Amino acid sequence: MMRKQFVVIGLGRFGGSVTRTLLSMGHEVMGIDKDERIVQEFASVMTEVFQADSTDENLMRKLGVRNMDHAIVAIGEDLQSSILTTLILKDLGLRTVTAKATSDYHQRMLEGVGADHIVHPERDTGIRVAHQVTSKNMIEYVELSPEHSLVEVLAPSTFNSKTLKTLNFRAKYGCSVMAIRRKRGELIVSPYADEVIFEGDMLVVIGNNKDIQRFERALED
Ligand code: ATP
Repeated sequence: MMRKQFVVIGLGRFGGSVTRTLLSMGHEVMGIDKDERIVQEFASVMTEVFQADSTDENLMRKLGVRNMDHAIVAIGEDLQSSILTTLILKDLGLRTVTAKATSDYHQRMLEGVGADHIVHPERDTGIRVAHQVTSKNMIEYVELSPEHSLVEVLAPSTFNSKTLKTLNFRAKYGCSVMAIRRKRGELIVSPYADEVIFEGDMLVVIGNNKDIQRFERALED
């Protein structure tokens, strides 16, 4: 893996978690937060952490932010700071800026000032948790687009020892099984229709949201 240089702006719960994970993966991370107390807290886990207001363009330039490969703007509450910081980073020439949005309006403004990637951690986690708590076999739920999702589910007992063909999977649920992971860990990618499924196998299923919902309901029976 190539070691990359990141700058994370806003070391709250989200930015802090991104920072700790990047560090544990061996990347170089510069942290910036305007709150002295938070900066103190992070001084023990990273060498480059600065107390600074990221809306101060000159200060950002002095800190050498633009030499980083990738910036993550993890400011949520203060909309103006989030937007202005993103704008300044793009102006300084940062190639890739990922920003956290807290609403659709926030997302549109971030797009407007040139954010390259926008994430919605609270919204996405809310969607995933809602699916996980309503379907006991649901392990993972990922929205791929407003229309399509990918889910990871445990095969229920009703699927045991049946093939995708006998389950009539695609016709019945309208979605596709992309992969099967056996309990022992074996992974079968793009399974054929005669592949046998066992209870407890993990199925990776992709489809449009209506079909995925139909499939989820079938899992409950
Ligand atoms: P989380 O849920 O991740 O804790 P949040 O959505 O509540 O965050 P905020 O609390 O607004 O978001 O911001 C996260 C961090 O960003 C805070 O530690 C805050 O001090 C820092 N921050 C906010 N504005 C700026 C700024 N202009 N410059 C630097 N840091 C900032």
